[in-house]
Amino acid sequence: MSAPKITDVVVTPVAVLDPPLLNASGVHEPYQLRAVIELRTDEGVVGLSEAYGDTPTLNNLRKAAPSLIGLSVFDLNGLTQRVAVTLAGVTPSTLTDLVGKASLQKTVGQAIGAFEVACFDAQGKATGLRVCDLLGGAVREEVPYSAYLFYRWAKHPAGATGPDYEDDDWGDALDPAGIVAQAQRMVDTYGFASLKLKGGVFDPDAEADAIEALRAAFPGHPLRLDPNANWSVETSKRIAKRLEGLLEYLEDPTGGNPGMGEVARATSLPLATNMCVTAFQEIPEAVALDSVRVVLSDHHYWGGFRASLKLAGICETFGWGLSMHSNTHLGISLAAMTHLAAAVPNLNYACDTHSPWTREDVVRPGALEWNTATGSLLVPGGAGLGVELDYDALERLNRQYEDCGVRVRDDASAMRLAEPGWELRTPRF
Ligand SMILES: [Mg+2]
Repeated sequence: MSAPKITDVVVTPVAVLDPPLLNASGVHEPYQLRAVIELRTDEGVVGLSEAYGDTPTLNNLRKAAPSLIGLSVFDLNGLTQRVAVTLAGVTPSTLTDLVGKASLQKTVGQAIGAFEVACFDAQGKATGLRVCDLLGGAVREEVPYSAYLFYRWAKHPAGATGPDYEDDDWGDALDPAGIVAQAQRMVDTYGFASLKLKGGVFDPDAEADAIEALRAAFPGHPLRLDPNANWSVETSKRIAKRLEGLLEYLEDPTGGNPGMGEVARATSLPLATNMCVTAFQEIPEAVALDSVRVVLSDHHYWGGFRASLKLAGICETFGWGLSMHSNTHLGISLAAMTHLAAAVPNLNYACDTHSPWTREDVVRPGALEWNTATGSLLVPGGAGLGVELDYDALERLNRQYEDCGVRVRDDASAMRLAEPGWELRTPRF
């Protein structure tokens, strides 16, 4: 069997159109940034991956890349060691505070994960196996995703529009009726069986009203609410009381394990997180304080597929549920998330995805197929991740990156175009 060795690492930033989705920090900008990674090898196999495209992430990827030359795509311990050594002294960075605090462990994990996914894709292409088979085998051939509902405006605020931006056709969603209509369109289009509302935007009781409206409109769909730690402990306790029996989990109502623990003791609702347990070093405190019942994994910052499988084992050990987090992503990451989810036996919940909000992609169409009866994505059948790069699209979206001027994600500055006095404040309610 061949063991391709890495001869070149190409990191290409892209910018993709993004609608004005509201969250605790502000509003999505007209462009979201991603990085496409190509690991080229001496056998002609190219491993693909996708990472954040903000400048600190790009700098870290480019700093670590030369250390990978000559490495076998099967030597994942070597990969981990080389990246960790190269990035040992970097300043911790995170795409957004919405995935918890920046730490060196997460920053290094982001780079390891980005390259590790590409190594797995190359392994699959070299052996003819799917990534899910390399991860231990598929326990499911279709991965259920949830409808990711957002309060949103119809248009970006004046001053935010980039050179080629065209508004999408979703309109606004600013009240319970708007959220129900958005959910209906998502369910009609994709068949999603679980519904998640991104909260932390409006008065918490108004968001609870939206959950009650969703419950009335979709009596059989599990519901989730994620205020991104934008509520105080007292607000969290009060709203949790109100929503008991209505949610499959309440995600990060408040910040930090101590506060989450306090809320957890006051409610029967399971608390979930992708903010207070986002790295292995944060797990002991969460266990000690019994602050969470469900962890949302994310291979992009936990350190890749193998780290995500380790996390799954820890969740199993402590009786925690396991779900999956999403930031805006393209088809390479959707394939990666789907292969990983297919290979994790104790993934108990439908995964999050931003796919319905993304209108542009770098992969050739056809490989990512939805079962629109169940809101599930079929595990791609080709070798590796099963997706192919569309080099014309990559070039166009890289040009869009060069032209758009966005270099880091900054939802707060985007919000200030509409509300000049807007400040980041946690908790806001
Ligand atoms: Mg979350």
